[in-house]
Amino acid sequence: MRADEGTIGKEHYKMMTGENTITDSQKDSASVPSAPDPGHDATVEFAAANDRDHKLLAQAVEEAYIGVECGHGRPFGAVIVHKDEIVVSCHNMVVINKDPTAHAEMIAIREACKKLNQITLSECEIYASCEPCPMCFGAIHLSRLKRLVYGAKAEAAIAIGFNSNIADGVLGIGCYHNSNLEIIKLDATIAEQVFQNTKGKFTY
Ligand SMILES: [Zn+2]
Repeated sequence: MRADEGTIGKEHYKMMTGENTITDSQKDSASVPSAPDPGHDATVEFAAANDRDHKLLAQAVEEAYIGVECGHGRPFGAVIVHKDEIVVSCHNMVVINKDPTAHAEMIAIREACKKLNQITLSECEIYASCEPCPMCFGAIHLSRLKRLVYGAKAEAAIAIGFNSNIADGVLGIGCYHNSNLEIIKLDATIAEQVFQNTKGKFTY
């Protein structure tokens, strides 16, 4: 965890492996490991947005709107940050690219690697407007991003008609248990609102 991040207002939950449930198991941040040992349950931090995280998540949300307005794709955005500088700001390009894998996070990872001229992003963080799907979560793991911050739950996208197979990225991918990825679910209603606000304005 970064030294400049406050822990006030944050609560820690433990995701129960193999079950789609989250229980409030731990409220003492000091005792929650940021890098869980292999084989331990995944730990996701649920946090009230601090200024930095809120600003960067808002940028990802803005990208989600831009992507729909441009007719590029569906309402999802992602931003990759390297040492407090935005490297790339991307949105879903599935429609314009005729590429079902052109999710915002995939585009962002590809573009960031190109821009930084490296095949890993271990010094970078990714901000996603919505919880990553299993494909994107796998790519986040492969690229060794050190931190994932997301806004909306996948269920918010499913509620307006997206396939339910986009869910369970964070819960369902076993590789998480062997990674040092820090995962933060921000309490940000702007991210949830994207789906209702763009409903009917894009092609599934
Ligand atoms: Zn995805």
